[in-house]
Amino acid sequence: VSQVDCVIIGGGPGGYVAAIRARQLGLTTVLVEKQHMGGQCLNWGCIPSKSLMESAKLFQRVRDAKNFGIDGVDAKALSFNWDKAIKRKDRIVSKLVRGVEFLMKKNGVEVVTGEATIDGKRVIVGDRVLEAGNILLATGATPPSRAFDALDREHVLSIPEFYALGAMPDSVLVYGGNGAACETATMLALTGTRVTMAFPGDRLLDFIDGELSDFVAKRMKKLKVTLLSGVDSLGYRDGVFMAGDTAVEAGFVLNCSDRRAVIPSITGPSPELDERGFIRVDEHGATSVKGFYAAGDVTGLLWAQAASAQGTAAVSHMAGSPQPVDLDKIPVNLYLDPEIASVGMTEEELQAQNVSYRKGDFSLAVNGKALAEGNTEGFVKVLATEPYGEVVGVHVVAADATDLISEAVAHMKLEATLEDVTAVIHAHPTLSEAFWEASFDALERPLHK
Ligand SMILES: Cc1cc2nc3c(=O)[nH]c(=O)nc-3n(C[C@H](O)[C@H](O)[C@H](O)COP(=O)(O)OP(=O)(O)OC[C@H]3O[C@@H](n4cnc5c(N)ncnc54)[C@H](O)[C@@H]3O)c2cc1C
Repeated sequence: VSQVDCVIIGGGPGGYVAAIRARQLGLTTVLVEKQHMGGQCLNWGCIPSKSLMESAKLFQRVRDAKNFGIDGVDAKALSFNWDKAIKRKDRIVSKLVRGVEFLMKKNGVEVVTGEATIDGKRVIVGDRVLEAGNILLATGATPPSRAFDALDREHVLSIPEFYALGAMPDSVLVYGGNGAACETATMLALTGTRVTMAFPGDRLLDFIDGELSDFVAKRMKKLKVTLLSGVDSLGYRDGVFMAGDTAVEAGFVLNCSDRRAVIPSITGPSPELDERGFIRVDEHGATSVKGFYAAGDVTGLLWAQAASAQGTAAVSHMAGSPQPVDLDKIPVNLYLDPEIASVGMTEEELQAQNVSYRKGDFSLAVNGKALAEGNTEGFVKVLATEPYGEVVGVHVVAADATDLISEAVAHMKLEATLEDVTAVIHAHPTLSEAFWEASFDALERPLHK
């Protein structure tokens, strides 16, 4: 039996970032991982999907070379080499996974490989028993398969299984309406695959501002992705998939169902779950059981940046130097074409809460850099409360929206008003000027509108 201040279960962005911070705070730390360091984020989530999306976007961009004054590219001769795109993705993933392994060594975090179970304050991995001062659960979440009960196992692929395919499929039925589903559907459509998306509920991305989710639905249609809403389960009849009454021809179903918490086997007091089955935590990542913390997907905040922030908050609390997470200011980022990013309140939330607000927006169609780069689809929308004009929501559709959003997060963290934002000198030409211009618009003194 080893005595450890902090045992972290899960080596994703929730667990491994927490482990580094725990060591910096002087806690003896063991991290248990049953598969690969980096978790879903590095191995089949954030990084692989972005690598493949870049290949897909470049494929489309090269077709457009003539418009940029480049002769000699025969658009008809271009083809997408799935195998090479996957190999590029694999190189990026393995570099980052090795990087995380190095960081564990550098920071003195002992990594134990195997599946952890919990018995009181003991964490058991094979024949190793760790007596933990505190336990951090960063075990992630995974899509359930219950929507496919009527299908044979070989009809449904998980994302890792899909990445392991040798060749690009002709047609795919993506099941889900969340970020992973929309990203994968977009990537496939850009590479020329026929895509159908079936999802429960009535709109894609139901957690973002309505204007953004409407934009995404329109964009999907432009990409010739068929959208089937209100589909709770899939069937299979005479060689075709059935999404409700609609027959869908597809090579297979890609399971992008909304993820559910992965919770290790626990003997003794178990942390309380919320109504969706995720572990309930406070702003320190503390659960209902003393000495048990949780971070990341397992708590229902399904973003890598949230996982790292919660993990850091948890170990800071364990070490007696609290650094709570500001749950209202976690940015949302979606790598579509163009990208989507957002922070703070949506218009629907402001209206539902009867908050009086002003709104400004700015289209990229008149932004100099967007025009120069040929990326004019998109807009920035800024929402600010009356009477002081505090910025409470920023919603962006733009080629680099996921980078642009950090400026908005920083402003909101400092409780900036529209006057503060407009007083910041923005470099020209940049896409960030669109955020600035939208803030001027909200003040009813637009510059270029
Ligand atoms: C296709 C796709 C694209 C995505 N893109 C983005 C993106 O662009 N940006 C973003 O912010 N998020 C993205 N996400 C979500 C992101 O991957 C997750 O939010 C993030 O990985 C959560 O981190 P985590 O540490 O909570 O869990 P995970 O990364 O899932 O890590 C959990 C780890 O715990 C391990 N584990 C589980 N149980 C045990 C046990 N009992 N014992 C030992 N180990 C255990 C697992 O093996 C795993 O390695 C994407 C997800 C998908 C599917």
